[in-house]
Amino acid sequence: MKTEPSHLFYQSRQPRPFLDYGEGIYLYDVSGKRYIDGSSGAMVSNIGHSNPTVLAKMKAQMERATFGYRLHFRTEPSEQLAAKVAGLMPAGLDRVFFVSGGSEAVETAIKLARQYAVTQGQGSRWKVISRMPSYHGATMGSLGVTGSPLFTGAFAPMFEEMPKIPAPTCYLDRDNLSEEERGIKYAEMLREKILAEGPDSVLAFLMEPVGGASTGALVAPDSYYARVAEICREYGILLIYDEVMTGAGRTGTFLAAEHWGVSPDIVAMSKGFGAGYAPLGAVVARNDMVEALLDAGGFQHGFTYAGNPLACAAGLAVLEEMEAHDIIGNAARMGDVLKARLSGLMERYPFIGDVRGKGLLLAFELVSDRETMAVLPKDWNANVELVELAYERGLIIYSRRTRGGKEGDHFLVCPPLIVTEAQIDEIMEILCDALDAFAARHDLPVLEGALS
Ligand code: PLP
Repeated sequence: MKTEPSHLFYQSRQPRPFLDYGEGIYLYDVSGKRYIDGSSGAMVSNIGHSNPTVLAKMKAQMERATFGYRLHFRTEPSEQLAAKVAGLMPAGLDRVFFVSGGSEAVETAIKLARQYAVTQGQGSRWKVISRMPSYHGATMGSLGVTGSPLFTGAFAPMFEEMPKIPAPTCYLDRDNLSEEERGIKYAEMLREKILAEGPDSVLAFLMEPVGGASTGALVAPDSYYARVAEICREYGILLIYDEVMTGAGRTGTFLAAEHWGVSPDIVAMSKGFGAGYAPLGAVVARNDMVEALLDAGGFQHGFTYAGNPLACAAGLAVLEEMEAHDIIGNAARMGDVLKARLSGLMERYPFIGDVRGKGLLLAFELVSDRETMAVLPKDWNANVELVELAYERGLIIYSRRTRGGKEGDHFLVCPPLIVTEAQIDEIMEILCDALDAFAARHDLPVLEGALS
């Protein structure tokens, strides 16, 4: 495709057609071509595009007030949304701070944890342990906790690199441990890191409960989640869940934390929370932490657009739509259907090494050998090529060339949570067509036969 001249720039030169409009799980470019939004943008458009009820509620708010600065007024949408979010959280997590995106949410969570520690006379605690690989945002503070050289590289001298432990990439392990034992093995790496850093210097542990683009929907064994929470408690370290991608229903529950009955001290959300209708995120923290901060003179932090009434009206309308149509229940049900269908692809394509994820945060990984999980040759640029083959055919999927902190090709398939079984059929048909074309180009085997 020819690159149209443009004054705009993003990460790279990537010619794309002009978007015309969206409707449900579909997007249409100005030539009339239809795309299935098989990645919900960047795992954002959870309730689909152009939902008329949400648009009507946003319009009604726009006609009242689009902005009211939070230091000058309380607003109904922000109060109502905060109350609704608090009601959806694990018990005790009921104080909400609004932001406009995921990086802001992570920055806020970290600063809140730090200032709380200071109010508790624990000023020695400042290190936030996170995982490699991981993605927590693009701002300087969030880069410090992001485990991805792709994003941090050039900026390394400019921010404080925080300690990392390996993400639980158990599917790559070739040992004799059970899944449960592997979960404990990876969780215990947190204890080792805390001891190595000095427990009194460690403020928090930050993790994505189900990995996003950094790991390709990596889920840890069940044993991991409880053990990590125990270790944090044992050393008085705050547990922060980055639910920027997983929150607001993506994994089939409102928070991914619910799958394991974990109650983190702080949760960061964004993406599906505003669902593409407004830039919106939230940090939710324990009431006693927030009270301690407010008693000590207030939280030394804020963003101009935080809690603006238009974004909050959009967020409230999104949550109301989710409730009215059991959209999170649909994510759980359709997640099972789509995961089974993706797993079925392994029979036909021996170069699919793994299928994983939870709810509608799902991914598959391409390899040259399923036994050894050896990656495909780098110069195939598989992560770009397969995405393009699907795109040409009208299916958008999401990929990044990273695996366990090194290189590898995983692909996220994360349609809006309103997807139907018939639409999953459409997704699978185009995906198979793209995989067939990819196999033909690289002379990879395709085993004719059962495709569930
Ligand atoms: N945290 C996680 C887990 C994410 O997936 C992302 C974005 O992909 C972020 C934080 C940063 O969010 P944003 O791009 O909205 O700043």
